[in-house]
Amino acid sequence: MTALFLEHQSVLRFGFFFGILILMAIWEVLAPRRPLTMSKRGRWFSNLSIVFIDAVAVRLVFPGAAIGMALFVERHQWGLLNNLALPDGAAIAAGVISLDFAIYLQHVMFHAVPAFWRLHMMHHSDLDFDTTTGIRFHPIEILLSMGIKMSVVVVLGISALAVLIFEILLNATSLFNHGNVRLPGRIDGLLRLIVVTPEMHRVHHSVLIRETNSNFGFNVPWWDRLFGTYRNQPAAGHQDMTIGLSQFRDPRRLTLPWLLVLPMIGNPGSYSFWSRTKAGI
Ligand SMILES: [Zn+2]
Ligand SMILES: [Zn+2]
Repeated sequence: MTALFLEHQSVLRFGFFFGILILMAIWEVLAPRRPLTMSKRGRWFSNLSIVFIDAVAVRLVFPGAAIGMALFVERHQWGLLNNLALPDGAAIAAGVISLDFAIYLQHVMFHAVPAFWRLHMMHHSDLDFDTTTGIRFHPIEILLSMGIKMSVVVVLGISALAVLIFEILLNATSLFNHGNVRLPGRIDGLLRLIVVTPEMHRVHHSVLIRETNSNFGFNVPWWDRLFGTYRNQPAAGHQDMTIGLSQFRDPRRLTLPWLLVLPMIGNPGSYSFWSRTKAGI
């Protein structure tokens, strides 16, 4: 069974990615949460081009990626989970949840350390918030993230199937929780007990520093609640809040070529925790 899933992993990944992207795009047209400020065509071109560049970069630098690493680790019986006699289901659940926690910590780190923030600010520079914002990550951030994920796989001995499930889930929830979609308050309230909703993650894309530095979770909302980084709603409300970063407000400077060099030439502002501590803000 596992071999079958792994054999068809590309089909599964592309199927979930395009399927959820299309569903979210339809939902955004039928029930948009906020009016968009930029032309969708330009933004979608940039954001979809970035996901393509990211995929090529990962393929070139880490041909086997995290799944290849998991298979290698499994063969050599390395890592914690490969040495515990857990039932398969429990080992997979532990692997998925551990990877999600690692991605939460990594996200906090990308906000904390100024050099990492320079890479991550490309994600936050989007002046609108819609499903394609969920795939807008700088290729160097994606490569670093893959390196971190592979290290977690080695140390914890996470199985290849758990890695595949986690990667498909993360992709799906990222497309979902960046959706510019209307969700009735009661349903949002119930959903955000188990998964990060668009209403929850939108707060993270606020231009206000204290709101940008909250709600770091991608899959489950529990880490934010556990570590005190949870923020229920944006102060200005979802309709009136400003999306993006205060130092990047010119759409002509946010086209694809500018986005790729943003970490090198862009002004990081005072969003990252450590730059603010040093500046005494
Ligand atoms: Zn962030
Ligand atoms: Zn985001």
